[in-house]
Amino acid sequence: MTTFDELDLDPRILEALDGEGYREPTPVQAETIPALMSGRDVMGIAQTGTGKTAAFALPILHHLAAKKPSSGRPIRALMLTPTRELAAQIADRLRVYGRHLPLYSTVIFGGVGQSPQVKALRRGVDVLVATPGRLLDLHQQGHVDLGQVEHFVLDEADRMLDMGFSKDVERILALVPRKRQNLMFSATMPKAIGQLAARMLHRPVEVDISPEAPTTDRIEQYISFVQKADKRQLLIDLIEGQMVACGIVFTRTKHAANRLAKQLSKVGIPSDSIHGDKSQTARTRALEAFRNGDVFILVATDIASRGIDVEDITHVFNFDLPNEPEVYIHRIGRTARAGREGLAYSFCDETESGYLVGIQQLLGEEIDVLEDQPYHFEKARPKPGQKPGRVKGGPGGGRSRRGTGRGGGMRRYNRGGQKRNDHNQRSNGQRNDRPSSQRSSKPGQKSDRPNRPSGGRPPQQKRRRGRQQGRSNASNRRGQRRDDRP
Ligand code: AMP
Repeated sequence: MTTFDELDLDPRILEALDGEGYREPTPVQAETIPALMSGRDVMGIAQTGTGKTAAFALPILHHLAAKKPSSGRPIRALMLTPTRELAAQIADRLRVYGRHLPLYSTVIFGGVGQSPQVKALRRGVDVLVATPGRLLDLHQQGHVDLGQVEHFVLDEADRMLDMGFSKDVERILALVPRKRQNLMFSATMPKAIGQLAARMLHRPVEVDISPEAPTTDRIEQYISFVQKADKRQLLIDLIEGQMVACGIVFTRTKHAANRLAKQLSKVGIPSDSIHGDKSQTARTRALEAFRNGDVFILVATDIASRGIDVEDITHVFNFDLPNEPEVYIHRIGRTARAGREGLAYSFCDETESGYLVGIQQLLGEEIDVLEDQPYHFEKARPKPGQKPGRVKGGPGGGRSRRGTGRGGGMRRYNRGGQKRNDHNQRSNGQRNDRPSSQRSSKPGQKSDRPNRPSGGRPPQQKRRRGRQQGRSNASNRRGQRRDDRP
């Protein structure tokens, strides 16, 4: 096992890590940090929650601290992220990891006034964390000079392209010097990412932390076959039956997220929504209320959920199944953070059965069915031999292709550090070969859990108790909730 001491990082960084209680590098850190320390480019396949921020932040801070700029304080590292939440989180981590270093960092993103950001830029920053739109805006206005960038990070590259930022990314790439160190992180490897990597990265070391491996083993997963019209009541029953005090519900659309949050609040489950159309202030407010326990349920769309890093989340509900199997893994990974256990309930209506097929193929196993619920709708179950993807007349645009595009000359590593032949093997069924002992499904254990929902309405008394705890002391309530669980 590698230790942070073995990574040759600046002692002041080690001191900050010690202060954070980080004992050893996570797998993505153990592989990425040495490559970046040696000056190589890196293509990292990892999602939020794996420790990837420190994986790129620590070596970059180390390099910046080791070399003084010839004059002034130019931007020497640029970290580009698709969402404001993620940008704010990275900036926050940079401050923590660099707290003993004489370096400055700042964050710029849209949706808020630009003048504090401009002021910070004027004072001079070594590291700039930015979302693409605001960065280009401020550059056009002459507030940002990227001419001395030495380290460039593109975080959540797949999400960046999904959100339509590919042109902006190209524009930004044209503004930074050609000679620089590059790092790209992406949770998935669709073809467009491979192509972008080939253009952006120079002989990158590839670090592949399989997205499905790190957390799903600690997440108990259930699928409910249900008609679309019954989903809301089933959700309410589950939330109440399990006295959920810290859960995320995923919907496909922003409109559905808004509506559902309102409906849940109406029946006495304090809820709010978070999605890309909300102002930054509204999103921050919702997240804050969720963190401190005033809001029990956050209803989110995928894009907005990327920045949610709340360790207490006990439940994830997939109100709508995602069209991309990898997204399912990301979503359920919002729970079971920091070594905890989590529960994931997914609803599948008759138009979503193909998505379930794709998800189960990626997982390499079938998700346990929650048949013992009053809205069970057998017709939503996938047919034998059904192909993954969109069902005719169903929602969404079907599965996108995974992992075909690759930059030439990449070295590929798996978590053990050995070369891999083809990381796409995950998607073509090889995980089915895993011995059942290594799979997350433990049927015997699951059915033993007394808090497995019966689907019927739980006694109101239970519900009130949960609410009262929630109002009096959020963290106690959350602790209590967990203790309530067997
Ligand atoms: P990230 O994937 O960068 O969003 O990190 C997820 C969480 O893991 C953050 O809350 C970090 O503070 C935490 N973290 C990162 N690296 C380590 C480490 N080596 N040991 C313990 N916690 C860590």
